[in-house]
Amino acid sequence: MPELRSICVYAGSNAGRLPAYALAAAALGELLARRGIHVVYGGGDIGLMGVVADAALAAGGQVTGIIPRTLMRREVGHRGLTELIVVETMHERKHEMARRADAFVALPGGIGTVEELVEALTWTQLGVHRKPCALLDAGGYWTPFVGFLDHAVAEGFLPERHRAMLVTADTPEGVLAAIERWEPPEVERWLDPEQA
Ligand code: AMP
Repeated sequence: MPELRSICVYAGSNAGRLPAYALAAAALGELLARRGIHVVYGGGDIGLMGVVADAALAAGGQVTGIIPRTLMRREVGHRGLTELIVVETMHERKHEMARRADAFVALPGGIGTVEELVEALTWTQLGVHRKPCALLDAGGYWTPFVGFLDHAVAEGFLPERHRAMLVTADTPEGVLAAIERWEPPEVERWLDPEQA
């Protein structure tokens, strides 16, 4: 894995039921700041998104938020960030987040978080980027999702080597260690991200 300068964090716009979720978001934000890793995220000040950003900032870290104009009010665009980039569409948001990150970490979250994580994974699977994706499995939140991926392998829809692209750990330290060990899958041809 080349030098890890920035990580894109996907996280719920809600805080979830268990305190373990917000604790993990705060611990991840703090760890990234302490390691000097720039946090890129969706720019909101609500749910786990707000928690991870606040924790990284409180620990002296750099945080870039990328938010569509239409969501500035609903997701409460965070005013205290190092940088808040307001874009026009959701697609632009995801593209910018991915372009600026060396790796992706998903904290617990809902449909939006799953969608963003799965898109980043498909881009690695297709060879659009060579960047690791990790799940921070706080409170066992992602266990059913990982079970589903194993089901997809068993049923012949997901090649084992693509399943192995997604790494999982239950602590922020474990997630960073797994990202640092990550090897890109063999793909037929790496595509130009600007053309894909
Ligand atoms: P959720 O996990 O549903 O609470 O959403 C987490 C974040 O994902 C929120 O900032 C949503 O606005 C964002 N999100 C949801 N769908 C998309 C999408 N298609 N593209 C970009 N961001 C999205």
